Amino acid sequence: RGLSVGVDIGGTKVAAGVVDVHGRILAEARRATPGQDPRAVEAVISDLVRELSDEYRIRSVGIGAAGWMDLTNSTVLFSPHLAWRNEPLRRNLEKLLRRRVTVVNDADAAAWAEWRFGAGRGETRLVCVTLGTGIGGAMIMNGRVERGRHGVAGEFGHQIIVPQGHRCECGNRGCWEQYASGNALGREARELAAANSPVARAIIDAAGADAGNGSGITGALVTRLAMEGDPASRELVDDVGQWLGLGLANLAAALDPGTFVIGGGLSDAGELLLDPARRAFGRNLTGRGFRPAARIERAALGPQAGLIGAADLSRLLSRSGT
Ligand code: BGC
Ligand code: ZN
Repeated sequence: RGLSVGVDIGGTKVAAGVVDVHGRILAEARRATPGQDPRAVEAVISDLVRELSDEYRIRSVGIGAAGWMDLTNSTVLFSPHLAWRNEPLRRNLEKLLRRRVTVVNDADAAAWAEWRFGAGRGETRLVCVTLGTGIGGAMIMNGRVERGRHGVAGEFGHQIIVPQGHRCECGNRGCWEQYASGNALGREARELAAANSPVARAIIDAAGADAGNGSGITGALVTRLAMEGDPASRELVDDVGQWLGLGLANLAAALDPGTFVIGGGLSDAGELLLDPARRAFGRNLTGRGFRPAARIERAALGPQAGLIGAADLSRLLSRSGT
């Protein structure tokens, strides 16, 4: 009764689940995102959907994709982290699966889930930021996903926060997601390890054999070490938290939300990340002391928000015929 499959396609993993009308996950499956081939990504999605719909009666299928969706939810115009360039993702998946699917941006899906079932419930102006491979952004205004004129509003990860800063996959330099994402955390940790600083001991040890070429040092690893108490990892997470707060202050100047919800894998760090973020937000908010400020909350649904939101949106959108 009323079950949907939701799939969340990020830069590193594809997560899928069977979701009920209350946003509860009944079954889950996940794979690594296959490299740079759109056909391979589609094959993984259809495998996961088939696997999950074998055991349940599924009414709708929703895909949250880390890319810029056109307003008709048919074409991924561009993706900084995946191989989609004007990709007719909806048509391709409908052919493979022989059924209707709904395709939305991954951060829009996560924000929707948090607004419906999580930390954003009841908020009339919600801004959601997901910290993973990149930074996803989304706005739920008066109960609707605000998509902008062309479908690509909310690409907050690509606000330029450091002129001439780190190069970004989107083609620019100094984008926010080069400073406050899981990838950014991994890069900073690799730099510390490459300097062979004794401070980086725990990080190098934890990465083991892969520490030399840096491939074992990821944002996820540093997040875990920070939670276990490693001082260097805590400093790195603190730095990322400060960049997060600065970007949120910019967003508050433009959008004046009541609540920011922070999700994605990096939000596992909880207060280690949010406390410096709140401080930097407070220091950089324009008109501070003379205006109400938004709350900054951790996502309640964790990294599963994306698949829950994709499933829920597919239920609503397939009913309304869009
Ligand atoms: C992309 C967004 C996506 C986000 C999170 C960004 O780099 O531009 O479309 O939502 O990463 O995956
Ligand atoms: Zn960028």
